[in-house]
Amino acid sequence: MPYKYEAPVSQTLFDRASLVTPGGVNSPVRAFRAVGGTPRFMVSGTGPYLTDADGREYVDLVCSWGPMILGHSHPEVIAAVQEAVGRGTSFGTPGEGEVALAEEIVARVEPVEQVRLVSSGTEATMSAIRLARGFTGRAKVVKFAGCYHGHVDALLAAAGSGVATFGLPDTPGVTGAQAGDTIVLPYNDLEAVREAFAAQPGEIACVITEASPGNMGVVPPLDGFNAGLKEICAANGALYISDEVMTGFRTSKAGWFGVDGVRPDLMTFGKVMGGGFPAAAFGGRADVMAHLAPAGPVYQAGTLSGNPVATAAGLAQLRLLDDAAYAKVDAVSAEIRGLVSEALAKEGVAHTVQTASNMFSVFFTDRPVRNYEDAKRQEAFRFTAFFHSLLSQGVYLPPSAFESWFVSTAHDTQAVERIAAALPAAARAASEATA
Ligand code: PLP
Repeated sequence: MPYKYEAPVSQTLFDRASLVTPGGVNSPVRAFRAVGGTPRFMVSGTGPYLTDADGREYVDLVCSWGPMILGHSHPEVIAAVQEAVGRGTSFGTPGEGEVALAEEIVARVEPVEQVRLVSSGTEATMSAIRLARGFTGRAKVVKFAGCYHGHVDALLAAAGSGVATFGLPDTPGVTGAQAGDTIVLPYNDLEAVREAFAAQPGEIACVITEASPGNMGVVPPLDGFNAGLKEICAANGALYISDEVMTGFRTSKAGWFGVDGVRPDLMTFGKVMGGGFPAAAFGGRADVMAHLAPAGPVYQAGTLSGNPVATAAGLAQLRLLDDAAYAKVDAVSAEIRGLVSEALAKEGVAHTVQTASNMFSVFFTDRPVRNYEDAKRQEAFRFTAFFHSLLSQGVYLPPSAFESWFVSTAHDTQAVERIAAALPAAARAASEATA
């Protein structure tokens, strides 16, 4: 088997896991299926580093898929968690921590007048589209190919290229009925959105989009795309939902809204706001949020929503994320992507680095990537070789060519130097790779 390095303890754990868990993992991308080889079972994280069960250390460029923007085991976040745990772990009642976290979100993200806390990004988007349907009394939802909004049944209809694909579920288990009200359109194509509204007047409840997509690799909205979506929604009585689960509190203090200033009706959050714990949220216009139970008729609930430990972690993390922190993450991101590009160019490897503030990804193509179809045209086999070379040298990238890379305030000179030292061999491996 290619890429089977010495990772005996991880391999043993993976074998054990595969007996009791489908595919050996609790979230598919962790299984390394896109790149092959043994998934590394991590035992600890400190600052920009992860240590695996075989005792190897890696510079982490995944950061738990976004949340760990202060690096791993940040002392102030850990202290807040320890303090919260000492007071108990779940009460099933309201508590001050969740009020403080909601206040922090409302203070940072101006379009959010009211917010409801949940436990995962999936719950946030699922609840937001339910609310949009309840508020408008309409059934249909527009989403874009290549945008991921969690594993909500209605939003797993992601296939679709060129022209609109109407309600074809992407996975067994999602029925035609569940996906039938989902309209999938090509990303960055306002004309397709206008046509969908024209074809179904009065039927579309909302358009949901990643504020700046990171789930087909980083594919930022073209100038005016988000503003155009907002305008079309407003003109047609539909809600504009900006999914900021990935970009929220990462791409700026106010997430992607802080970058493009386009005012959504509803927004969803997760990842960074949980400080490494399961906390997420959706919020927006007060008149829309007022339709949510118990204030209004649209039902939504959660045993662990607003959990005191998760909210303490999230609040501690957000309070540390000031302008200086974002400046630091942006700077280290620019440095790393510059090094990656330089190394690949030196080996003559065609590539395009795309960015959304400090989020970035490397596409193995020399053409700009504007939507999912473009993203799929890259030479992903080169990524596989690049990934494994870096992994064997102690640099941990997302195990797929269609993901954003993430950095943190903890990525210091030493971590960057380790990446720089590993890049020449990785770029060579990418250049020598064959399909
Ligand atoms: N929305 C976006 C933009 C995401 O990137 C993700 C997860 O990666 C989700 C929603 C789902 O979040 P979760 O994995 O917490 O359910």
